[in-house]
Amino acid sequence: MKSQVFLAKVEDGASVEAQVEALQKLYDAADLNRIVAKRDFVAIKFHVGEKHNTTHVKPALIRRIVDLAKAAGGQPFLTETSTLYKGERENAVKHILHAQQHGFGIEQTGAPFIMADGLTGNTEYELPINGELHKSVKVAREVVGADALIVVSHATGHPLTGFGACIKNIGMGLASRMGKMREHSAMKPEINAGKCRYCQKCIQWCPQDAIIEQDGKAFILTEKCIGCGECLAVCRFDSVKYDWNAESGFTQKSMAEHAYGIVKNKAGKSIFINVLIDMTNDCDCFSVNQEKCIPDIGIVASFDPVAVDQASLDLTAAQHGKTLAELAHAHNDATIQIRHAAKVGMGSLDYELITL
Ligand code: SF4
Ligand code: SF4
Repeated sequence: MKSQVFLAKVEDGASVEAQVEALQKLYDAADLNRIVAKRDFVAIKFHVGEKHNTTHVKPALIRRIVDLAKAAGGQPFLTETSTLYKGERENAVKHILHAQQHGFGIEQTGAPFIMADGLTGNTEYELPINGELHKSVKVAREVVGADALIVVSHATGHPLTGFGACIKNIGMGLASRMGKMREHSAMKPEINAGKCRYCQKCIQWCPQDAIIEQDGKAFILTEKCIGCGECLAVCRFDSVKYDWNAESGFTQKSMAEHAYGIVKNKAGKSIFINVLIDMTNDCDCFSVNQEKCIPDIGIVASFDPVAVDQASLDLTAAQHGKTLAELAHAHNDATIQIRHAAKVGMGSLDYELITL
């Protein structure tokens, strides 16, 4: 049976008010609030954007979701996990203070920000999945403890996975630190010394202190590297070599299996909202202000996390001729994550688009 995906369109450059109006239309048409029962703890998972990022999901959208969850009798809270890379979101204290600075404080949104994986990312819970790569996955504990889950994802390109939206927001974004490391474990990058200018940015961002100086260039100590990909993400001189075909595939599949664990845990109690506005080549983890690479489309929502990502890619292709993933990182086959998620039983690639 086809899954339903609802689309509320917006004009390119839509105001925040127009975005909130589109979101409300989705709630009304799809009855999204039906997943919330009285007194439910409702986890709202989204990305607040790294320092300097301005294209992240807007606080007013989150505020509306909080208000709607409260109206249904729920107890909503905003939630996230710590990043592997060093930045404003590397632990609970920095992350919550940073979220406040980006407009996601309790005064603005009406809900507290509670880290799903504790102070430093190791408050976790192991969920059995019997997947192709993993028999069980390690995810952020507080999401498992919540009664309902609302996943709000900003659709972007991504240097490692090609595309970042719902599956990535759950699979990477709600994995514990151990889970994230496992997702990156197949990736072992090397430095191309001929291109390296020894700017030291990768050294600054490497979470394992696995990069040292050797003959005036950066050098990766393979035995310390956990394959998180941050050096690749921050190098501006294309000096980090990485086997995209072999490694991205593993990360995408592992990410999909981590997402599956959570979706299975929240069966019938989760909704998935993708924001196709201010879409950029790279994700909101980049500490820069990015230009959007494709005109705004609107907001899509579904009870099926696979269908909502497939529809998001298809809508960008209809808009531009290429999908957002092809446009942003053509070397990466971003459909691996979606196809694998469907294969393990997380949702359907087949959907019916209902345009409001
Ligand atoms: S970020 Fe790139 S150029 Fe700078 S030191 Fe690292 S590998 Fe070299
Ligand atoms: S060297 Fe390894 S651990 Fe360090 S940033 Fe690069 S991929 Fe991550």
